[in-house]
Amino acid sequence: MRKIQPLLAFALVLTSVSPIFCRNQRPLAEARVVARRALARSIVIDTHADTPQMMLDEGYDLAETNSPYMISLPKMRAAHWGAEFFSIWVDVDWPRQDLIHRALDLIDAVDQQVARHPDSLALAGTADDIERIHREGRIAVLMGLEGGHILQDDPRMLDIFYRLGVRYMTLTHTRNTAWADSSGDKPQHNGLTDVGRQVVERMNRLGMIVDISHVSDKTFYDAIAASKAPLLASHSSCRALCNAPRDMSDDMIRTLASHGGVIDINYYNAFLDPAFAAALQKVSGPMEAAVTAARQKKTAQGQRLTYAEETKIRMQFVASIPPPSFTVIADHIDHAVKVGGIDHVGLGSDFDGVDGMVPRGFADCSKLPDLVVELARRGYSEAELEKILGGNVLRLMRQVESTAHSMQVEKR
Ligand SMILES: [Zn+2]
Repeated sequence: MRKIQPLLAFALVLTSVSPIFCRNQRPLAEARVVARRALARSIVIDTHADTPQMMLDEGYDLAETNSPYMISLPKMRAAHWGAEFFSIWVDVDWPRQDLIHRALDLIDAVDQQVARHPDSLALAGTADDIERIHREGRIAVLMGLEGGHILQDDPRMLDIFYRLGVRYMTLTHTRNTAWADSSGDKPQHNGLTDVGRQVVERMNRLGMIVDISHVSDKTFYDAIAASKAPLLASHSSCRALCNAPRDMSDDMIRTLASHGGVIDINYYNAFLDPAFAAALQKVSGPMEAAVTAARQKKTAQGQRLTYAEETKIRMQFVASIPPPSFTVIADHIDHAVKVGGIDHVGLGSDFDGVDGMVPRGFADCSKLPDLVVELARRGYSEAELEKILGGNVLRLMRQVESTAHSMQVEKR
């Protein structure tokens, strides 16, 4: 290749480096106006919160005014929340024969919240439902199954979970399933097996979003190749900014986007900030030992360690680690937009699932407007913010729904 003039090279680098070079930064007062307008015209959709375990295990009611948790009705209202995908997560260590039962209990806990607060909440199954519920002034409730292990190797369970309202499934959680490798485990299947590909096909046909958060890189590429519908990363951040196996590399973000998919940025400090992740790594040995000991003690008493109790133990170990500012979330959004494009990035908080380890200034979901102001300050337009806040997920849902429709028609 010919040598490029240094000045020209510098200009090329500038134009390709970041959207902030194409967007004009705004003064704060102006950014606040843009953010307010963007929130007013958007349907805010968050694709991952782990709150159902508190509903089930601790009788947590979303309407609580002084909620210790990151998701509550008053907090969602304060942040103009439009829709939440509640995670139906079951620990990979849960007794295998009881995984489905536990998931059903969690789904029931979510259903009970919807039944208890009909003026504020409504179950949604489609993108149209979300828009209708939003027009009615209520918050749409959806569910995602977190981990293919929950199927207990019976793919027919997908049909049943779909009928109960589940609209995405992460193919794995932190350990490999019998048919897919996880980013948290040693490679075993070289990605997806034939059964794994059948699972993806079944999800496509049902209209259940294939979620690639938590899977290994090879599983991601195999799922991209197998899926007829675009994929979602419901709660993952950018590996280029924080080198965690759970985050997505630039090539993965580009590939996901080129197939119509969306990456929803996770707010967990250890996926956002390399300094936090390194410090956490240093205390993780004794921290995990303390959690295991507490869990064994509870088990011996015939009880279970609750999320709140586990969080309290972990907080003792991480209290001295400085959390990053919440603007780091905007850095990850910026990066994902730069790499994948404005139509392929959204919000996947992981609220109530990260043991309190969220950025400074972002303690719970009520803080979302501050992030919108930060993005507006960086030059995002109202229309661009609307896409990030939920428009991109709505578009992806519609594509998944229409793919399912055409597959079902074909079959007949
Ligand atoms: Zn997760």
